[in-house]
Amino acid sequence: MPLILNIAIPSPLRRSFDYLPPVDMSANEIEQLQPGIRIKAPFGNRKMVGILLQVKQHSDISQEQLKPVSEILDETPLLSHSLFKLGLWAASYYQHPIGDALASTLPVLLRKGSSLIKNTTTCWRLTTEGKGLPNDGLKRSPKQAQLLKLLLQKNSIDREELTSEGFSVSIVNAMIDKGLVEAFTREAATAKISANNTLIAETPLPLNDEQQSAYQAVIKQKGFNRFLLEGVTGSGKTEVYLQLIAEYLQRGLQALVLVPEIGLTPQTVNRFQRRFNCQIAILHSGMTDRERLLNWQAAKDGEAHIIIGTRSAVFTPLLKPGLIIIDEEHDSSFKQQDGFRYSARDVAIKRALDEQCPIILGSATPSLETLHNVVQTRYHYLQLTQRATGAQPPTFELLDIRHQPMEEGFSPALIKAINAEVSKGNQVLVFINRRGFAPILLCHDCGHISTCQHCDARMTVHLSKQQLRCHHCDYQKPLPNTCPECNSHQLDFRGVGTERSEQVLQRLFPTVPVHRIDRDTTSRKQAMQNLIDEIHRGDACILVGTQMLAKGHHFPNVTLVAVLDADSGLFSTDFRGPERMGQLLIQVAGRAGRANKAGKVLIQTHQPDHPLIIRLFNDNYTNYAKDLLKERQTSTMPPFSHLAIIRADANQLEIAEQFLLDIKTNCNHDKEKLLGPLPAPMARRAGRFRAQLIVRSQQRNILHSLLASIIQLAEAHPSSKKVRWSVDVDPQEMF
Ligand code: ADP
Ligand code: ZN
Ligand code: ZN
Repeated sequence: MPLILNIAIPSPLRRSFDYLPPVDMSANEIEQLQPGIRIKAPFGNRKMVGILLQVKQHSDISQEQLKPVSEILDETPLLSHSLFKLGLWAASYYQHPIGDALASTLPVLLRKGSSLIKNTTTCWRLTTEGKGLPNDGLKRSPKQAQLLKLLLQKNSIDREELTSEGFSVSIVNAMIDKGLVEAFTREAATAKISANNTLIAETPLPLNDEQQSAYQAVIKQKGFNRFLLEGVTGSGKTEVYLQLIAEYLQRGLQALVLVPEIGLTPQTVNRFQRRFNCQIAILHSGMTDRERLLNWQAAKDGEAHIIIGTRSAVFTPLLKPGLIIIDEEHDSSFKQQDGFRYSARDVAIKRALDEQCPIILGSATPSLETLHNVVQTRYHYLQLTQRATGAQPPTFELLDIRHQPMEEGFSPALIKAINAEVSKGNQVLVFINRRGFAPILLCHDCGHISTCQHCDARMTVHLSKQQLRCHHCDYQKPLPNTCPECNSHQLDFRGVGTERSEQVLQRLFPTVPVHRIDRDTTSRKQAMQNLIDEIHRGDACILVGTQMLAKGHHFPNVTLVAVLDADSGLFSTDFRGPERMGQLLIQVAGRAGRANKAGKVLIQTHQPDHPLIIRLFNDNYTNYAKDLLKERQTSTMPPFSHLAIIRADANQLEIAEQFLLDIKTNCNHDKEKLLGPLPAPMARRAGRFRAQLIVRSQQRNILHSLLASIIQLAEAHPSSKKVRWSVDVDPQEMF
């Protein structure tokens, strides 16, 4: 039997595949192949790029049935051993097909089989003649003499350094003509920081006492340590990150910073770029595949010293990992909601353990999981309680809107307050987490409500586009003039979205500019930036928008934040509803009075006596979270138990439900731990019917062994072809 290559090929199948090595390879060469290298192999009627897991002696499949691989793509693995192991760990922890999981850890171009981009730059150095030139050899060309001196010090220089030192390429060319300088290409992979270069461009702020002790707590520890840095918006968390990063850069190490999708704003990036003199690699979904690969390589080669990215950047290779930071650790965008459903935050924690480096989770509103870990003393707890600029914290006021005559969502007290601020020349932010004009189109004569024909959901009215849109499957149709049931003209728009609020505000305050910020107004490139620039000009205006307004932005002139409807999260079907609501509202509130003007937050509610509303706004997030944790303990929900959801969808609800029911019946485990099958909260979505089975256990290992047997049953089920199913470990959304 020849040696066998065991390869992880991206496919929905939860297994790896055996192949024969290329025919022209010697046994010795084959044995030398390292796990982690990419290999192209025939799969079905295509060629796929897979990753070598191991070279083995035997296969369960007879040799005649094995195919040889097509091509060995790498000599050495692209990922370090520890990162490769992290990928394997994540595949098994999240119960995701191994080939697909490993592929997800690579940039798209590498997944498709491209090679690394040869990243060379043109540089210049002195020729022998140039080096031997007597001191006064360039007396009549002072600029050239300066460059000569610089090149004697630095040996070589690239274009970027040349211009930053104040020379133009024409000077170089003149020296090339004289035979003093020659050009050569250098692989850009050499780390740029040398002893001559200072790392810090901008002077760091002197830390206040709380920042100082947070900073010290981190740097005095060695190896793997987990920290929660909890601090209200504006308390100076980012300043602590920046100074910690500086410390680790000085130790010759790299820093990886993960931010939520919505948080990677140009302002955030600028702040890092202003502070540091080193290369910063940015990784997010808005970049081209080539840009991403270049930045990925820069991180891998140690050329970039700071890596800032969204979720998938957690798998970025680092030459010298030193520090990992997860900003806004509670943000749900760290959890991938389809395909490979990993949590970048949790993978990052495992990575920090593997790489033996510290990890900092930062947030103004930490997740209950993380707070629970603090209580269990697994995490060091660091707290910033004051705003770092000395700005006063905003004041909170509940507006009881019961019995109030409402002006399309606005109470008289709120309108008065908005008026007071804008007439002082201040800016006001109105938060409503719903796009469109109105969430309901209702016929006043027959009661008909417009629903999506593909989902169990109402259609949202988008008035300016004269459309009805489903926010769940993106189905769109023209806004009708008459009721499709009874032909009546009495169609009513019920409820308020951002578009309607914008219109109302424009009518109420005709002389004040109103800017709407949501996915519909910012979809064009640059649109968001233009709005932000406009707001930063500082003139009185009203901003109305969704949670896009909540994060990452610093609006110094906003003195009033208004929350149009605080109650929706209280009645969510998702057990995380109140947690998410609290986090979002506190984040939004954090936009108020961030500079030298005091800020106020007004919250409209129909539930002014609800204990959670009172806790959140009259007390603080920490105590609110404590209350929620108690509730979770009573109901044994996470973090007091571990969950997984098996989701199944089919073209009939019965098929999906029966599939899950069969699995539950045949699974010889404690039945108590399986809840369901139940129709998903929105059973029909985009034309498919969805059911779910919830797996719960207080012990992780039991959950995982239960999942293993469930997956076996699901794969063997006769209707597994008719049903699409997936496993979600530590789900963040229950639908
Ligand atoms: P966070 O990340 O917690 O929202 P930032 O680090 O962005 O807070 O700080 C908020 C504001 O306070 C910024 O304008 C920042 O420049 C300023 N700031 C932070 N730390 C200090 C400090 N030690 N002294 C003075 N100003 C500070
Ligand atoms: Zn009707
Ligand atoms: Zn729909």
